[in-house]
Amino acid sequence: MTYGVETKGGFARSDTRESNRGASIALNASLMKQETIRDRRGYKTGAAIPFNGLLTNNLLTALPGEDFISLLPHLEPIFLACGEDINELSDSPRFVLFPETVVISHINVLENGSTSEAAVIGREGMIGLSAILSSHQTSYWTQVTIAGSALRVRTEAVKREFARGGALQRLLLGYAGASMAQLSQKAVCNNYHAVKERLCTWLLMIQDRATDGHLLLTHEQIARHLGVRRAGVTRAANVLRDAGAISYSRARISILDRQLLESSACECYQILRDEFNRLHRTRNGCGVF
Ligand SMILES: [Zn+2]
Repeated sequence: MTYGVETKGGFARSDTRESNRGASIALNASLMKQETIRDRRGYKTGAAIPFNGLLTNNLLTALPGEDFISLLPHLEPIFLACGEDINELSDSPRFVLFPETVVISHINVLENGSTSEAAVIGREGMIGLSAILSSHQTSYWTQVTIAGSALRVRTEAVKREFARGGALQRLLLGYAGASMAQLSQKAVCNNYHAVKERLCTWLLMIQDRATDGHLLLTHEQIARHLGVRRAGVTRAANVLRDAGAISYSRARISILDRQLLESSACECYQILRDEFNRLHRTRNGCGVF
């Protein structure tokens, strides 16, 4: 049976599980009161959420119907602005985030101020895994790289579902494995691969998650993520622009030839894409990226 929950608020989920009209109505009510809730809690967000009407977070869409329905009343759409800090440097973050169109990065910051990205997370993943698996404080900053929407859930609600030992637990443990693979691969990449190759890999990973070929990014921002000087990013971007792979103007990079970008990327892109495609293999055998 096709499962498609259509509500007045425009929230939909399509897979082969049973529908639950009551749960969709509960979320619809949540959508209507989100503005009030956000103001009362003082949660820092950008404008009102431009929700795209279709659930696209791959962890949530992979949940069997009954597991998803138990989380459904707790899901709250939010909009996150570029550069926004998400406070994961806390022993007990209040919310777990499931990105939809937003792209978020874990960034390591050293005492001398230099930075390097440890992970990039979009609709294939979640923010707050460490809070679910343990209570230890994380050592990295979590910041929005590409503005967009996400669904947030109170950490305690996810912990309760995780403790039941069902599909959510299996899914999040699988995601934890893929996340560790990303940490390990990016550590190697940061040390051994050239800036131009790394820039290609990074732009491809961002585009996979942002699902837009036009990325609002400055060279300064990219340099902070790659842990290199801005001049190095500009040199690499010039080579890619001259080859016709990208174009850029102030604070905006457009991917013109994705195939060329893939052939210019380091091996890390394919390795990481395969890792998350294995986790999220769809019913017709295709991956998510
Ligand atoms: Zn690499």
